Amino acid sequence: MLRLREATDESLKFALLFLLDSLLRHLRAAPESPIDHQQGVRALRLVLAIDEARRVMEVASPQLRNIGTLGGNLCQRPRCFYFREDFDCIRKGGNTCYAYEGNNKYHCIVGGGPCYIVHPSDMAVALLALDAKIVIYRKGEIKDIPISEFYILPEEDYMNENILKPGEFITAVVLPEKVAKSSYTKIKERGAWDFAIVSVGAVIESDGDKIKNGRIAFGGVAPKPWMDKNLNKILTGLELTDSSIETAAANTLLDVEPLGMNNYKIILARNLVKKLLTDLRTKE
Ligand SMILES: Cc1cc2nc3c(=O)[nH]c(=O)nc-3n(C[C@H](O)[C@H](O)[C@H](O)COP(=O)(O)OP(=O)(O)OC[C@H]3O[C@@H](n4cnc5c(N)ncnc54)[C@H](O)[C@@H]3O)c2cc1C
Ligand code: SF4
Repeated sequence: MLRLREATDESLKFALLFLLDSLLRHLRAAPESPIDHQQGVRALRLVLAIDEARRVMEVASPQLRNIGTLGGNLCQRPRCFYFREDFDCIRKGGNTCYAYEGNNKYHCIVGGGPCYIVHPSDMAVALLALDAKIVIYRKGEIKDIPISEFYILPEEDYMNENILKPGEFITAVVLPEKVAKSSYTKIKERGAWDFAIVSVGAVIESDGDKIKNGRIAFGGVAPKPWMDKNLNKILTGLELTDSSIETAAANTLLDVEPLGMNNYKIILARNLVKKLLTDLRTKE
């Protein structure tokens, strides 16, 4: 995969090829640079839009960010240890999901079956909250796909995580022109680099203390970046008071089916929603 070590104005168009680290450095150095209307910068402004750069620094380690690309991050394969190790599981064409009866502490609580992975990309969750578009190359054409249609569940295809077929790839990511208040947070097991056990990205447009439009996306709970329909319905018109934030949190991920060892993710997700909405209430 082609990677660009340094950002030039022209190369910014190919945002996904950027090393995440170079991009962060570029955005920090010139967040309002004249080139920020360009697709590449806009695409990667999600880094700032969805959270402070500090958060993004939690995507893997500095060494990994130095070689990782946005396209690779969005299309990385699942981290399920049975999948990564020598197990001929369903996702590899076998007929058993070893996680279902085995160690499923890190697996999904919603959208699973016959495979129970969680999608590992933090960026994908941020992009779903932002309602971004994934630009793909398909049969000689460039197509914009809403990110909500890019990832798929195992029930649709248990050997692939997204709609891309052989010969197709991501060429760019496009963010909406206007991004309202946003935040992203994740729980991981260790302070050092680690994947999200549960993560939440939120984008809200408010009128005083009332949410006019809001979107909350979850990572670590489903085989794809997840929107909880019930919660997102509640968000419109929600007053950002302590009690309504409690209600929204309590109504988060009601329709889930945890496995033997991962019930704890429901509580984490609800607490993260509460934290995020509380933080956003005071965020300018
Ligand atoms: C120890 C460790 C910790 C990590 N922690 C995190 C974390 O906390 N959060 C997080 O989000 N990520 C994390 N990552 C993932 C990391 O940030 C990289 O994004 C990931 O390893 C992919 O690497 P890459 O960019 O080099 O892609 P590659 O390894 O080059 O590609 C990954 C996959 O994507 C496909 N691909 C690459 N580019 C495209 C494209 N343009 N179109 C279509 N398919 C494409 C490749 O074919 C391949 O299947 C971690 C990785 C490791 C090893
Ligand atoms: S969760 Fe999916 S990837 Fe993991 S063992 Fe089960 S089928 Fe394989």
